[in-house]
Amino acid sequence: MHNFLRNTAEKILKESESLREVVVVLPNRRAGLFFTQHMGTLIDQPTWMPEVKTIEDVFYGFAGKRPADDLTLIFELYRVYGDLHPEPESFDRFFFWGEMILKDFNDVDQFMADPDKLYHHLAEIKELESDLSFLTENQIELIRQFWNSFISQDKKHQEKFLKFWQVLKPLYRAFQASLEVSGLAYSGKLYRQVALSLSEIQKPDKKYIFLGFNAFTKTEELLIKHFIKEFGAEIHWDVDAYYTLDGNQEAGLFFREYRKDSILGPTFPKELPNLIQSKDSKIKTYATPLKVNQANLVGSLLEQIPDQEALEETVVILPDEQLLFPVLHSLPERINQVNVTMGYPVKNAPVYAFLEAVLEMQRFIKIENGEPFFYHQPIKNLLSSTYLKSVNEGFCKGVLGEIQAMNKVYISRTELGKGGKLFELIFQKLEADQLFPYLSTLMQELAELLKDDMLQRNYLFQCFKQLTRLRETFEKEEQFSVDREFFIRLFRQVFQEVKLPFEGEPLRGLQIMGVLESRNLDFRRVIICNMNEDSFPPSAGLNSMIPFTIRRAFGLPVQEQNDAIYAYTFYRLLHAAEEVHMIYTTAADQGKAGEKSRYLQQMEVELNQDLSEEVIYVPIDQKSTDAIRIEKTPSILQTLERYLVGSDGHSETAFSPSALNVYLDCRLKFYLQYIAGIKEKEEVSEEIDAGVFGNLAHYSLENLYSGFIQRKKRTQIEEGDFAELRKNWIFPAVEKAIRDFYHLEDEAETKLNGQLAIARDVIQGYVDQVLAYDASTAPFRLISLEKEKKYQTTLEINTLNGARRVALRGIIDRVDELNGVIRLIDYKSGGDQKTFPDLDALFDRGLEKRNKAAMQTLFYGLIYQGTHPENTAPLKPTIFNLKEVFNDNFDPYLYQKEGRKTGIEVLDYKDYDPDFQTKLKELLEELYNPEIPFDQTEVLKKCEYCPYKEICGR
Ligand code: SF4
Repeated sequence: MHNFLRNTAEKILKESESLREVVVVLPNRRAGLFFTQHMGTLIDQPTWMPEVKTIEDVFYGFAGKRPADDLTLIFELYRVYGDLHPEPESFDRFFFWGEMILKDFNDVDQFMADPDKLYHHLAEIKELESDLSFLTENQIELIRQFWNSFISQDKKHQEKFLKFWQVLKPLYRAFQASLEVSGLAYSGKLYRQVALSLSEIQKPDKKYIFLGFNAFTKTEELLIKHFIKEFGAEIHWDVDAYYTLDGNQEAGLFFREYRKDSILGPTFPKELPNLIQSKDSKIKTYATPLKVNQANLVGSLLEQIPDQEALEETVVILPDEQLLFPVLHSLPERINQVNVTMGYPVKNAPVYAFLEAVLEMQRFIKIENGEPFFYHQPIKNLLSSTYLKSVNEGFCKGVLGEIQAMNKVYISRTELGKGGKLFELIFQKLEADQLFPYLSTLMQELAELLKDDMLQRNYLFQCFKQLTRLRETFEKEEQFSVDREFFIRLFRQVFQEVKLPFEGEPLRGLQIMGVLESRNLDFRRVIICNMNEDSFPPSAGLNSMIPFTIRRAFGLPVQEQNDAIYAYTFYRLLHAAEEVHMIYTTAADQGKAGEKSRYLQQMEVELNQDLSEEVIYVPIDQKSTDAIRIEKTPSILQTLERYLVGSDGHSETAFSPSALNVYLDCRLKFYLQYIAGIKEKEEVSEEIDAGVFGNLAHYSLENLYSGFIQRKKRTQIEEGDFAELRKNWIFPAVEKAIRDFYHLEDEAETKLNGQLAIARDVIQGYVDQVLAYDASTAPFRLISLEKEKKYQTTLEINTLNGARRVALRGIIDRVDELNGVIRLIDYKSGGDQKTFPDLDALFDRGLEKRNKAAMQTLFYGLIYQGTHPENTAPLKPTIFNLKEVFNDNFDPYLYQKEGRKTGIEVLDYKDYDPDFQTKLKELLEELYNPEIPFDQTEVLKKCEYCPYKEICGR
């Protein structure tokens, strides 16, 4: 079997006169350990081993120092920031921002970008326009593309946007100066320093051999090329023709570049190895419905390893660390040795949740007659934890029962202290300066309690280490006073990123590792979990203050490079593997539909061409394709009663236009969502996708106009009002929308990271454009804005139990009156059509592109008129499609239009009312017909993005 590290060790052994005179440099320590291990097995007599280093060791060795830890550096950065900024925010607010800035400084130095130019040009758009002489044509074009998206916005917003970055250039310089004085450094600084003084490096006594590199930073490239050219160093590439020779294959991105280089090019073998395609590998893919199913599948795949085969020839790759424990728990009994190499987030550990709850408790204490009383919620969490229950379960149960039975809101310290020593320790009121010693003592107590649970103890140890570091850093930084809130926020922020590093004995037993940990290692059998987009490769998201195009123009890595690194890591695993099992999930996770990794799709296409019969697609979850129908049982009919008006004139709930659209799209989907109550997972995402973007724009407009009404005490908006609205009120309205949406605190300016800040400014552009359109149609009178008003009506239908009234309700984004016409406005972010051929088409569930937006806005007409039966003004359905607001001929109105015929504008819902009611009535009568089951749609296209497709097997 091919094994890059072993083969190279063999080669070095054969070609080197004395291993003592050799330094082997690898990308990481783990590859170094494996290399040494292979070398050890190849040598049969006592001899000196070569020196094995990581590339980091080489740089730090020449720099004569190692970088300081991030926390210390962020403190230092904050101090410098404070000198530059008259009113710096508190340290905890600065912390995340500081992490991002530090990461950017690191990139700027690692990739030898000119910090002055880069930060200057981020901040000074004017200079960008005038002095571009130092940039190449390509760079100028990239930067222009970026700034052009802001050109349509007014000056003030541009300035505010730019201010965000203005501090960075002076901060970079001042930070460098302060590090020089303190003697501290971050890694990029050391790398740049070494790269700038390569000419001063003396020719080493030993021969340097670089192994297994794929993507260099600029500084690494400079150093390695210098060593090859000046000192005769060697480099061995872990490369394959499969992805290198295919110009479209992202995995070969770097190699293709290096092969063109005058120094690196000649170091590649004349003929690239063709490992992937020359092998008869068994490649299988598996679709599993849920993430957790993967663990069982891994277990059964491991069962099949032949007894005589060494376990270390198999690796399980876990792109998502959350699968680690399920996989460990599903291992077959015969696997008695496992080596885990990956980081597991401490924040997922139960003991961290406990510590967090302890701190949370401190935030809700009241004092009565000198005695602290604790708020019930955190107390309930703590008393329900395994830690306190394991000490005194009876007591915990007793107090919990009392809280419930007596509806206790606060519980006294005296009462809680009765549980025992640990309870006395935990339940006390602390001042800010007592928090560090308190947590240290508590951790020690917990460690004692957990002495039989090595894993939890390890977590605790990791927490303890972090806490001690935090404490030491604070002790050095005397000017930072710590209040309780500050401490709690900082504790959370620092621990967010901490991982418990699992590093077992290499090469013993089954190997379980993260993606990047597998670099340079070769295995006979590879099992990869989570082969889903967003997991492997991970979703895009460089957390950086520097926008993509600027990063790219200045040679800093962007997503494309990250993708190439992940793609290489994936394809490299295929170099040696004789058996590859790749598992992906089809279920939606965190609201995202389970989409299989593009690597799988690529391989299917690529290998189909050359090795078609070698790719075996085995969906283990071959779901039944039998149609699903849910008959209307008495209990379902009972649930449907909730939408009907009862004898008291009220209904429990009402049909919204979305519910009716769902019913029209698919009866089963309606059943699952509205009757069975199977909710779609709520998505918590910092990514700004189109849906989030639309919501943010929509909330911003709501904030803007409701703010106007509050300030001016009038609902009439004149054309003259728009100048001020556009100049002064867009920014706060958008800012508030973003903060509310992401639950960020007010005034926390720095928490809007690069992405959100960019989104904020882009949304401002859209909102401004809507206002420009509104100004052109003003004056108009605002009647209602979103939440503040619900419109409702009822519709009589015939059921088996006689005539009944169905409740209908809806929230209209905005209702206004323009020239005597009432506009029922819906803001949309997608590409919704504003034409429909006729009412039949709106109710035709067989149509793939039924116009839901038209159905919805006509429904608004029905409920508006129902709420205001006295109304005689025309009701005009209006769709503000944000994607179209920049079009010169933007027209938000609805048209009845067939094919290429000229459309007829819908001027008044009332013209459609009788027919619309008839259609709706028919639809609702069908819904209440016990004979018609909830069945699956026949239009498969509708299943594509349906969250229930797992259940349906569609
Ligand atoms: S997957 Fe298709 S059939 Fe199933 S509920 Fe969704 S839309 Fe209906």
